[in-house]
Amino acid sequence: MKLHEYQAKEILAKYGIPVPPGKVAYTPEEAKKIATEIGKTVVIKAQVHVGGRGKAGGVKLARDPNEAYEVAKRILGMNIKGLTVKKVLVAEAADIAKEYYAGLIQDRASQRVVMMVSKEGGVDIEEVAREKPEAIVKYPIDPHTGLRPFEARQIVIDAGLEGNLNKLADVLVKLYRAYAGVDAFLAEINPLVVTAEGQVIAVDAKIDLDDNGLFRHPDLAELREVEAEHPLEIEALKYGFAYVKLDGNIGVLGNGAGLVMYTLDLVNRVGGKPANFLDIGGGAKADVVENALKLIAKDPDVEGIFINIFGGITRADEVAKGVIRVLEAGVLKVPVVMRVAGTAEEEARKLLEGKPVYMYPTSIEAARAIVAMVEGKK
Ligand code: GDP
Ligand code: MG
Repeated sequence: MKLHEYQAKEILAKYGIPVPPGKVAYTPEEAKKIATEIGKTVVIKAQVHVGGRGKAGGVKLARDPNEAYEVAKRILGMNIKGLTVKKVLVAEAADIAKEYYAGLIQDRASQRVVMMVSKEGGVDIEEVAREKPEAIVKYPIDPHTGLRPFEARQIVIDAGLEGNLNKLADVLVKLYRAYAGVDAFLAEINPLVVTAEGQVIAVDAKIDLDDNGLFRHPDLAELREVEAEHPLEIEALKYGFAYVKLDGNIGVLGNGAGLVMYTLDLVNRVGGKPANFLDIGGGAKADVVENALKLIAKDPDVEGIFINIFGGITRADEVAKGVIRVLEAGVLKVPVVMRVAGTAEEEARKLLEGKPVYMYPTSIEAARAIVAMVEGKK
């Protein structure tokens, strides 16, 4: 479960990490009032569940309450990556001298929570990882001890951060305590700022909670906002699909979470980017397939679709019938590739004969084909 920046900052503050004072506004009038209370230059920030708000125009400075009103008016209602901005955070602007990155993730390879710290903050960390991987220090944390102050100081030194060593290390120690304390899945401070006066503050914060730990945090579970999720994810909930919107352009539909994960990996491996995860589950009938495929087709990012079915309790011919219904409805404007194997495979193939669906005997061939088709289009 994703939290908004202001909610993540409330958690960080509870654990003793300095954050700029601020409040949430739902209207330009409220933004003006908060800016008046703060009495200094403020930063107005769209509260939506995506990163890169700055680049999208969702983070702006305002020097006085009237400007705060104007800026808030512009940002409220803005569409950022498919999400409508319904509230903004109005916070005291930081006088930034340095922008660093600090984050915690679960790392399957080391089977640990890993702290990542970089001097190259403010920007997208994936970009740093791609272009300057040596600029990221990675430190696996022992769950029995947590992150100890001497380890945190070493991380700060290894990453080459400049500023008060103890203050920087203290933020890292507390970030881990917060992460473990709320059962987070991911926690990030980007940028972690050293101000012109030498203060260390979290200017942006992102926390994703582990849904499996939510029962231990009823106060946090209450923060779930169905309306803040992607509209397609909300629609998928109605059908009971396991659907996750991703940022690529190849729609993926499969049966069984493992097969779908594998399909996403394959698409990535052959150079493509999946637009979604969608598992139709076991034993799906034609109508389920029909609804699932229509949902994928509604996504404006989708430029090609890969259907991967391993027939077991799900019959491949039922899947084919669902696909045919969608073809007949005329809502598919993009190429579709399909791989079917298992129960009723032959029947499915017969049903789809002569239909505008490209059939491939193996998953890897289907993946290569759809990536090539999508690329060829551009
Ligand atoms: P994101 O784009 O969604 O990650 O939003 P951030 O909160 O990280 O803001 C993006 C960028 O806006 C930061 O990297 C800063 O450069 C700038 N920014 C954000 N808050 C402030 C602030 O209080 N003061 C100043 N001067 N710049 C800020
Ligand atoms: Mg940021």
